[in-house]
Amino acid sequence: MTDVSHQDVQVQFAAVMAELAAAERASGRPAGSVRLIAVSKTHPVDRIRPLLAAGHRLFGENRVKEAETKWPALRADYPDLELHLIGPLQSNKVKEAVALFDVIETVDRPKLAAALAAEMVRSGRRPRCLVQINIGSESQKAGVLPDAADDFIEACRTGWQLPIEGLMCIPPQDEDPTPHFGRLAEMARRHALPLLSMGMSGDYPRAIAAGATHVRVGTAIFGYRSG
Ligand SMILES: *Cc1c(COP(=O)(O)O)cnc(C)c1O
Repeated sequence: MTDVSHQDVQVQFAAVMAELAAAERASGRPAGSVRLIAVSKTHPVDRIRPLLAAGHRLFGENRVKEAETKWPALRADYPDLELHLIGPLQSNKVKEAVALFDVIETVDRPKLAAALAAEMVRSGRRPRCLVQINIGSESQKAGVLPDAADDFIEACRTGWQLPIEGLMCIPPQDEDPTPHFGRLAEMARRHALPLLSMGMSGDYPRAIAAGATHVRVGTAIFGYRSG
């Protein structure tokens, strides 16, 4: 799976969609209730086009700079595509991020929330936002700590007036993700937030069982990343 051809990208995408549908059924959830974010980071535009040609429109990138080199041309050809920022956002890249992304999944600190709010007012663009939760309280990981989440979510909504629609997390790597997914879902319910972005190539069926509305899948579609 180190270098998959374009046709393989479509084949692997179809396999992921089938597994996603099976996970929806197994969890008693309606067909189409979970959306697949194809995570195209590190992969060139010619690996992405086969998915667009096959009708897929939802993608995720983790770097603003890289996304800026790939997506304006793709958007010109496919104006209805939806692009999510799933990686850390520096305050000095907020202007570019607001201009390019439809959803920013990684709002996780006051300085960033304030910068996003100011840029949304300035530009008139309002990409929907998710708050990233450091659900395993890992010291090196981005995201708001669970203990601080309630206050931060509330401040984002009522203070900075950001269009917060959900929560996102990346559970600790060597732990069973299910309890972490469950706690994120509980937190979203408590705040009446409809979107839950959780689950990656290794654990998306379990995220769907726990209530994910968006799963972020890269490797299982595009193959392993070289970088
Ligand atoms: C890279 C990435 C993914 C996709 O991971 P895979 O294991 O390749 O499916 C999902 N979410 C985030 C935040 C990522 O950075």
